[in-house]
Amino acid sequence: MAERKGISSEGVMNSLEYKEIEDKLARQNRMIYGEGAIFLLILFIGAYQVHSGLRKEIALNRQQRNFLLSISHELKSPLSSIKLTLQTIIKRQLDPERARGLINNSLKDTERLAGLVDNLLMAAKLDGESVDFLPEDLSVNSVVEEVMAHYENKSDRPRKIELKLGEGLYVPGDRMALLTIVSNLLENAIKYSADGDLIGAQTFKSGNKVMIRIYDTGIGITDLEKTKIFGKFYRVGNEDTRQTKGTGLGLFLVRQLVHLHKGEIVVSDNVPKGTVFTIQLPSAESIVRSDSEMPRSQTVS
Ligand code: ADP
Repeated sequence: MAERKGISSEGVMNSLEYKEIEDKLARQNRMIYGEGAIFLLILFIGAYQVHSGLRKEIALNRQQRNFLLSISHELKSPLSSIKLTLQTIIKRQLDPERARGLINNSLKDTERLAGLVDNLLMAAKLDGESVDFLPEDLSVNSVVEEVMAHYENKSDRPRKIELKLGEGLYVPGDRMALLTIVSNLLENAIKYSADGDLIGAQTFKSGNKVMIRIYDTGIGITDLEKTKIFGKFYRVGNEDTRQTKGTGLGLFLVRQLVHLHKGEIVVSDNVPKGTVFTIQLPSAESIVRSDSEMPRSQTVS
């Protein structure tokens, strides 16, 4: 048809208008592909965010369910056993020796309940963003020794206990908070080890830091779990099948309290087996005192 009008198709293709139309078309194509790619990218990012949000939500729900299950169990079992003991003492004429044994067991149960409530209160305070601390120059060894003595007396599970204490180790801190840190770690060391395993505490100085190490030769923690165990309510395994008691609050509290004391905590493998928790805190001498150094009321970050 073009030939008939005297314009060859080659001529049309070489014409300026045709080139411009072709360029325009190419530009439009590029724009469409570019916009499409951006749109796809945004879609993928959105889908990924929805997916990870959902996963977080599911994990949170699972943790909350685990927490409710474990806390109910933790509260119920010592209460039931105290109730049973009291009923037995009232109903039966027990010889004094047997009665003392039962009462001692109930005392251990009440201590466990008190420890649990202390942990819950501390967690609530940390959540409420302000904790009342009574800062003083604390002898780290006196805290470790106090906790160790407590567990040596009350532990009905035979463990080998080892204490390696350095000298002159003082940190600026709150005694109750430091007791909570050490006793939670020691309780875990006992809980996650078996009869005959070694439980130990070591204190020493490294530069201007005071180090506290609590170690055991127990079941150990996998590398994947090491990244999760400091999370609130996080417990390794499944609540329906788990044998050990607990709420998943212990290590969360420990880490928060260590951070409030401007320290760090790390977890590593013990050799040949077991776990080591190492805490480093600024030593008392390394801190230039001022009223603002550790205020009575601290804010959790
Ligand atoms: P829990 O109340 O479950 O003991 P924690 O916050 O104290 O909660 O600890 C979180 C998890 O870390 C525990 O469920 C346990 O699996 C693991 N864990 C803590 N300490 C030890 C340890 N010394 N050895 C092995 N596992 C441990």
